[in-house]
Amino acid sequence: MSRVALVTGASRGIGRAVAVELSRRGMAVAVNYARNAEAAAEVVEEIVGAGGRAVAVEADVSDGDAVAGLFDSVVAELGPVEVLVNNAGITRDDLILRMSPEAFDEVIAVNLRSAFLCTKVALRRMVRARWGRIVCVGSVAGIGGNAGQANYAASKAGLIGLVKSVAKEVGSRGITANVVAPGFITTDLTDELGDKVREASLGAISLGRFGSPEEVAAVVGFLCSEEASYVTGQVIRVDGGMAL
Ligand code: NAP
Repeated sequence: MSRVALVTGASRGIGRAVAVELSRRGMAVAVNYARNAEAAAEVVEEIVGAGGRAVAVEADVSDGDAVAGLFDSVVAELGPVEVLVNNAGITRDDLILRMSPEAFDEVIAVNLRSAFLCTKVALRRMVRARWGRIVCVGSVAGIGGNAGQANYAASKAGLIGLVKSVAKEVGSRGITANVVAPGFITTDLTDELGDKVREASLGAISLGRFGSPEEVAAVVGFLCSEEASYVTGQVIRVDGGMAL
């Protein structure tokens, strides 16, 4: 029987690449999205076209009721979630002096609260099954901070504390939890960056280029695999050697 994976925010960018990678590794994949049903359907089409199994499930993962509904749908359509990738994320950048409490709360809710909510539901079953893989997609901003991203960096730093605590709580049940922290990856999120920021960022990257979603997905895929059974509570940077 193939394992069942849920990837939040899998309609575009890194989440999409992770969904495709997990399918390539033989998993049945739930492709969660918030608004972009068409893009999510395309991901499912790509996976099914390649001989895999996937369903698209709409849910705002910052909302507890929506998360409960999301897991109910996945269990009904694919089976219990054994692999969870908390990937959904947004930015609402501003300097802290100008940042509204709403922009702070929104980013924390979508990037961090969502991971708590999904992990909590997923763990119930994983603990019983004595097997599970949880990967949170963090960011280098959560390690080093970033001017103009106090809300985002705080949410991503929060994921590190969440994952390390989960790793300690449920490690004895064969469940691993890790963070993958990407640097600059070419997606809709970084398309918004101006040329100036882009050039300055490139100067700090040893490999001299932005990464691709597939390069992040390869690391997430490994951490979700059987082979990664002795890796837990870690933060793995996928950043092309930023600021070495
Ligand atoms: P993206 O292209 O903007 O895609 C974001 C995804 O999240 C979309 O699938 C979107 O769904 C979904 N989403 C947004 N809000 C949601 C919600 N409330 N509930 C469920 N899904 C929601 O972003 P990305 O660049 O691939 O980023 C993915 C993750 O990597 C994020 O956590 C981001 O912080 C992290 N990251 C990215 C970079 C980078 O350079 N790109 C670097 C470091 C970390 P819809 O399509 O329905 O809107």
